[in-house]
Amino acid sequence: MLTALRERTNERPASIVDWDASTSTQTIRSEGTPITVAYGDGIGPEIMSATLDILSAAGAKLKPQTIEVGEKVYDRGFVSGIGPDGWRSLRNTKVFLKAPVSTPQGGGLKSVNVTVRKALGLYANVRPCVAYAPHVSTRSPGMNVVVVRENEEDLYAGIEHRQTDDVVQCLKLISRRGSERVIRYAFEFAQANEREKVTCLTKDNIMKLSDGLFHRVFDEVAQTYPDILAEHLIVDHGIAKLATNPEYFDVIVAPNLYGDIVSDVAAQVAGSIGLVGSANIGHHGAMFEAIHGSAPAIAGKGTANPSGLLLAAVMMLQHIGQHEIAERVQRAWLRTLEDGINTADCDDQPRATARVGTKEFAQAVIDRLGSSPRHLHANTPRVPVPDWPMMETVEPSANKEIVGVDVFVDWRGNSPEILAQTLQELDTNGFALSMITSRGVKVWPNGLAESLCTDHWRCRFMIAGGQDTANHEQINGLLSNLATAHIDFIKLETLCTFNDEPGYS
Ligand code: NAD
Repeated sequence: MLTALRERTNERPASIVDWDASTSTQTIRSEGTPITVAYGDGIGPEIMSATLDILSAAGAKLKPQTIEVGEKVYDRGFVSGIGPDGWRSLRNTKVFLKAPVSTPQGGGLKSVNVTVRKALGLYANVRPCVAYAPHVSTRSPGMNVVVVRENEEDLYAGIEHRQTDDVVQCLKLISRRGSERVIRYAFEFAQANEREKVTCLTKDNIMKLSDGLFHRVFDEVAQTYPDILAEHLIVDHGIAKLATNPEYFDVIVAPNLYGDIVSDVAAQVAGSIGLVGSANIGHHGAMFEAIHGSAPAIAGKGTANPSGLLLAAVMMLQHIGQHEIAERVQRAWLRTLEDGINTADCDDQPRATARVGTKEFAQAVIDRLGSSPRHLHANTPRVPVPDWPMMETVEPSANKEIVGVDVFVDWRGNSPEILAQTLQELDTNGFALSMITSRGVKVWPNGLAESLCTDHWRCRFMIAGGQDTANHEQINGLLSNLATAHIDFIKLETLCTFNDEPGYS
């Protein structure tokens, strides 16, 4: 079946392939909600076929359009791993069921997952991590945590530079509006699912401006949901608590990178990374996928667990209003677990009766459609469609004034004193050198000999000579003088105050 699919898609230059029911053991109804489907890489085709077979047998009313994403599309020269026909289909259907895609290393190629999330504005990534004890082994049988991960910003903005021989940088971008909408989504999700508490995880004791903004917006949004408990934990403490006492948590909201790590930990603590699906939600569309990757080591072996993608598909059915079918599928899946049927990743399941492959697991679920679990609770989360207006928390334009500039310099010397002396001897155009740091550690004035200095120096120039503010022409003059003196500056950050509050660390 998969070979047939690959041959068919290879034959056509276009990447949209209409669903051909003959490739599946079941028949997806031709009338129904149009969705875009991608089989992805690695174990993707196996788990997608299994998932679609179950949806079809359950009576889902879907009109799938298959698009190619990932390795084959990269090979055709599309650096984002998705071609123009794929984008056209996504814009038309606005609902994407996606199998995992391998992310190539380097070479200017971009992650399909990150690109689609950002391009379609799918800002909230909802990841329910639930324990299915005693049918899946876990030390935390009461665990039922939903991680809402910010999906577009943070270190995933993908803005990286090599600046010197020794140093590369990755920009961490956090916006007030981006934070507000994902935090608001977490509270709306909690409300829609009768959850009691939302916990925000950041590292704002260190990143006081960026994570500090996320935390501050969390506190502001929380005030508008007085019936839901709101708390903030430092992320390292929060993850340690999650690993040892996950029952403590209810809904977690976090910036992108922490959310990614937290949800993988939560999935593993709940039982297996193969058991968690996710919904990526925005105002203009939604994408549903497993949280795991393409698992290349087990690709083609027919052993992968299709449950993560299946549970993502269940959230998709809820999202497009096919609630009954969603519940039917989830009940049958829970009953399959209760009957001790499991794939290799859940092999230490205490009550296992049969270890099966991907296809057999799908067939077991199909055989149980119409059955209900005896003990496990079928609680497919409701994934709200964001139709609420945004809050007006964007502050009015602040009075912004330039008070200095951080000039980052590539310099091979090893004495900050010499660099400081060189800079001080130049005409700095109304600025005065106030500080030099290397990797964020102050090395001038009064640095410590023990501090490791690289070839990457931040030289802070503040306005001097009785001026209150500086302007761009003054900065131009400073840079021009540095260039004349062969100072290799590689980056500039303007230091501004916002309503007299410093906007820099
Ligand atoms: P992975 O999630 O693919 O695998 C981690 C471990 O979990 C492996 O041992 C794997 O065998 C196992 N595993 C994962 N899914 C499973 C399943 N359904 N059933 C049984 N076992 C399963 O993570 P990785 O190895 O770090 O990444 C592999 C590739 O996937 C990389 O190219 C990565 O960039 C990509 N990736 C894609 C997505 C996505 O498409 N959303 C997410 C994460 C990683």
